[in-house]
Amino acid sequence: MLRLVARLLIFVLLTLVTQIGGLAYLVALGLARLLRVRHEALRLGLFLLCYGAASIIAMLVAPSFGRVPLPCLAGNGETLAAQSPLYCVLNRNYVAPELREVALALAEHVDAEFPGTTTLVVDGSFPFLDGFPLLPHLSHGNGRALDVAYYYEDAEGRFRNGVTRSPIGYFAFEQPATGDVLPCPAQQDGLSLRWDLDALQPLFPNYRLEPQRTGAALRWLATAGVTRFGVRSVFIEPHLKQALGVNSSHIRFQGCRAARHDDHLHIQLGRSGGV
Ligand SMILES: [Zn+2]
Repeated sequence: MLRLVARLLIFVLLTLVTQIGGLAYLVALGLARLLRVRHEALRLGLFLLCYGAASIIAMLVAPSFGRVPLPCLAGNGETLAAQSPLYCVLNRNYVAPELREVALALAEHVDAEFPGTTTLVVDGSFPFLDGFPLLPHLSHGNGRALDVAYYYEDAEGRFRNGVTRSPIGYFAFEQPATGDVLPCPAQQDGLSLRWDLDALQPLFPNYRLEPQRTGAALRWLATAGVTRFGVRSVFIEPHLKQALGVNSSHIRFQGCRAARHDDHLHIQLGRSGGV
């Protein structure tokens, strides 16, 4: 009984974190039984094999279901890459084809303005099923939302290409300065995803947001991104919008219930077929 509960938990956890991992786990369990594999290390190997195979199949099949993978590694002069290969390993790098076009064109634009710049993406969506939640996000369920990492410079003001303050691209918040616009009350109720994670903040390196590239990316998203590529909105904290001097109604605050957006940008595409 206890073993069944443990397996169920593993299945749910793998499904929530990777979507196809739960299914790969069930297949691995079935194969282990069929082949009478009892050794734990061999069972783990079998699961990893099934998970790898499922990930390759997802990559080949997802385009038929309207999702395409974003590039994982920044080799060969790629201007767009996942912030960490982990996002690809977990199958969280899928988006609608139109959104991949946005991301590629954005990265190309920033690289054209500032040669040698790699734009890093974090969570997109899972490969299958509209409406399947990508936790802990409120959106990202339909391939039309993508998180992009900010560009950073070190304490001496040198741009750090391909590097973020946080090792996973999330949760290293740019704190508002005294006198900045504060959109939400200091005390949030338990329903908010607006975590401050104060205890984590001192652990991150002393990098700052690189204003030239970040500003160029936002301006491109608010102009060509909107008119040519169907970007509906970009979420950012008001204090960063103000500091970067970007004035567009498409660059906006996400509301106090959603996560903070001074550690990453959120790009939202309009509905399919419209802007
Ligand atoms: Zn997002």
